[in-house]
Amino acid sequence: MYSLTPEQVKIRKAVREFAEGEFRKVARELDAKETFDDRLWKKAAELGFLAVFVEEKYDGMGMGYLDQCVIVEEFARVDLGIAHAIESTFFGTQLIQMIGSEDQKTKYLPPICGGSMRMGMAITEPDAGSDVSSVSTTAVLDKDAYVINGSKVFITNANLADFLVVLCVTDPDNPKKHQRFSTIIVETDRPGYSATAYHGKLSLRASNTGDVVLKNVRVSKENLLGKAGQGFYNIMEFFNRSRVQVSALGVGTAQGALDKALGHVRKRSQFGKPLADLQLVQGKIAEMATKTEAARSLCYRAASLLDAGTPDPALSSMAKWYCAEVAVQVADEAIQLHGGYGILEEYDVAHYWRNAKVLEIFEGSKEVEKVIIAKKILGRY
Ligand SMILES: Cc1cc2nc3c(=O)[nH]c(=O)nc-3n(C[C@H](O)[C@H](O)[C@H](O)COP(=O)(O)OP(=O)(O)OC[C@H]3O[C@@H](n4cnc5c(N)ncnc54)[C@H](O)[C@@H]3O)c2cc1C
Repeated sequence: MYSLTPEQVKIRKAVREFAEGEFRKVARELDAKETFDDRLWKKAAELGFLAVFVEEKYDGMGMGYLDQCVIVEEFARVDLGIAHAIESTFFGTQLIQMIGSEDQKTKYLPPICGGSMRMGMAITEPDAGSDVSSVSTTAVLDKDAYVINGSKVFITNANLADFLVVLCVTDPDNPKKHQRFSTIIVETDRPGYSATAYHGKLSLRASNTGDVVLKNVRVSKENLLGKAGQGFYNIMEFFNRSRVQVSALGVGTAQGALDKALGHVRKRSQFGKPLADLQLVQGKIAEMATKTEAARSLCYRAASLLDAGTPDPALSSMAKWYCAEVAVQVADEAIQLHGGYGILEEYDVAHYWRNAKVLEIFEGSKEVEKVIIAKKILGRY
């Protein structure tokens, strides 16, 4: 059910060539300078690697979520910071595709797929992280506009996005807490929008993250994405899809770290023989490879369910949690197998661990993923 087709194998080869050829030579410098080179994003767009699940009539490739996972896996295999900077440009297109009006799809999807517009999702707030239903940013209808006030934190592309999908409270008095929210598209050039970037992050230094303040920001009421009062549910549906994409980032990170470890243990000799000849080292390699392959299977299976139109929140969460954890574990062992050289950035392995860590935190921490899995299995979802 979830083995790759010959076409997907071809895509993987093309993406690998692109990522190996373009990312590796600049990755450490972009990371050190906490910046990104937009030419990589534009080139990825030219090659048709962005939001490939978008229908062809909106300039997408009409492919699936599994295809997208194969692509971002290969990006992350070289560098998760660059992979995230590129894949986050279309972070949220899944939602526009699912529930956007025809006008919204026509306006936003083609430039996103073509690499001339960048978006983001603004959910997290100072007092609403894991508990999404505590979001307090308000959107009040005033004639033909929503007036938005509030603040968001940890927003990817806060300083770069052309627009964000913002989770707002639109019906604060609704007795049903989860029906108080709406998702609204906010153009970042509106008066009252401001963003401040973070510096000195452990992970994803090539990818922009920042705080957003929304002060009396007016957007057209046509910017409502989906139905009023459905925002919380929209975000949960979005997470079912985006978590699978994050799991693919984990698979790629684990594979990249494993590749590095293999290269090192073949070259480095101690006790008169290559490290690769020591049985305890072989045991580590076997465990790293098995975990990576198990993670890949879970990711591809979750993506296949999305493509079949039968998303399973538990499986999406299993994939997200497991693949992120495997990325951290495999990257940790890859550094261990490098010995002291592992902590030197020039050996190109430390960043796999630094970057992997965030995969266990954003898009739902691993603890939150386990809560979802348990709820689903216990029939309480
Ligand atoms: C680099 C980066 C990029 C991000 N990009 C975005 C973005 O684009 N848009 C956006 O909206 N958000 C974004 N986030 C925010 C991210 O989704 C949140 O950090 C995440 O949801 C966790 O929220 P929090 O940081 O407030 O942690 P908290 O909710 O305070 O949780 C802290 C810890 O408590 C534990 N915990 C919490 N709840 C439970 C529970 N129910 N059971 C057991 N343990 C629990 C977990 O260990 C968790 O890690 C980003 C974060 C980072 C680091």
